[in-house]
Amino acid sequence: MSVIVLVEHTEGNIKKKSFEAVQYAAGIAQKTGTTVSAVVLGTLSNSEMESLGQYGAQKVLHVADARLDELHARAYTSALLAAAQKEGSKIIIALHDINGRAVAPRLSAKLKAGLVAGALSYPDLDNGFVIKKAVFSGKAFAFVNITSDVKVITLMPNTFQLNKVEGKATIEKLDVSFGDKDFGIKVKEVNKIKGEIPLADAQLVVSGGRGMKGPENWGLIESLAKELGAGTACSRPVADAHWRPHHEHVGQTGGTVRPNLYIAVGISGAIQHLAGVNGSKTIVVINKDPEAPFFKAANYGVVGDAMEILPRLTEAVKNF
Ligand code: FAD
Repeated sequence: MSVIVLVEHTEGNIKKKSFEAVQYAAGIAQKTGTTVSAVVLGTLSNSEMESLGQYGAQKVLHVADARLDELHARAYTSALLAAAQKEGSKIIIALHDINGRAVAPRLSAKLKAGLVAGALSYPDLDNGFVIKKAVFSGKAFAFVNITSDVKVITLMPNTFQLNKVEGKATIEKLDVSFGDKDFGIKVKEVNKIKGEIPLADAQLVVSGGRGMKGPENWGLIESLAKELGAGTACSRPVADAHWRPHHEHVGQTGGTVRPNLYIAVGISGAIQHLAGVNGSKTIVVINKDPEAPFFKAANYGVVGDAMEILPRLTEAVKNF
């Protein structure tokens, strides 16, 4: 009856956000009086898998099929179904990211399970199985009660602080007989973005908007990001104008970030932009217009010209 949680890894390392998902599963397991079985798909070292014990997993179910090193939504679903069946699990957790969003609805349909996508809280068991999630692009919260016997949850990354404890998970091999269609999509090429902090994992983000005037000024954003060890992002018009690559665009039609610190430079703060960043723990806005709407969402604001403020801020961080 353990809680099942899908673990993601890249280049031999478990992703930080997956430790969060395991810790979240452990919290639910504790509340419901059960244990956590983490499901690892593809190639990963034993020591990495054992480390999941430090976040509350008692057991790792390892499906050691190298084809699973890349996302195959159907195959991932089959593997999770096999794991859930083996463990008699009623609660299955994945991350609210590309992998989780591809797998969770499939699981939900196959198991006739209620799904909460983008969970922001542990379930409130005193009132059923009620979980908080954001709706209307983060403008409101919904409290969703899952009433089905089996429950599927995707956890919004960067929602909870990680707390490492002593522990070592045991590893068990899980054999899954995949169907013909499970690997129906062939991954021909993977283009990794080199040398940058992936935005989805960045704890600090420096982001620029149209107020940066043009790509020739982006060195100011990059210098600050480098000093802080931050990822870089941008508003949609900036990506549309090809000042920055599209994978940096955040907002309703772009990526979602939930860093500890989001510094928005020369961005007006339109609702469509805020939709992708309003989960940030602290927001700092630099804008020359004191009436810019972004100031209403900011924890700290600097009114002034980005071209003057950014070099001074970068220098201050350097000397800190
Ligand atoms: P602007 O609105 O032009 O704002 C520039 C800001 O820079 C202004 O506040 C100005 O005061 C300030 N500024 C100018 N010069 C300086 C300076 N020297 N120093 C400091 N500040 C300065 N947008 C997104 O970002 N992400 C989305 O996902 C997204 N999706 C959308 C989906 C739909 C369906 C629609 C209709 C729109 C979407 N948009 C999205 C666009 C959104 O509505 C805004 O138009 C956009 O976010 C504005 O980008 P911006 O703030 O960079 O530019």
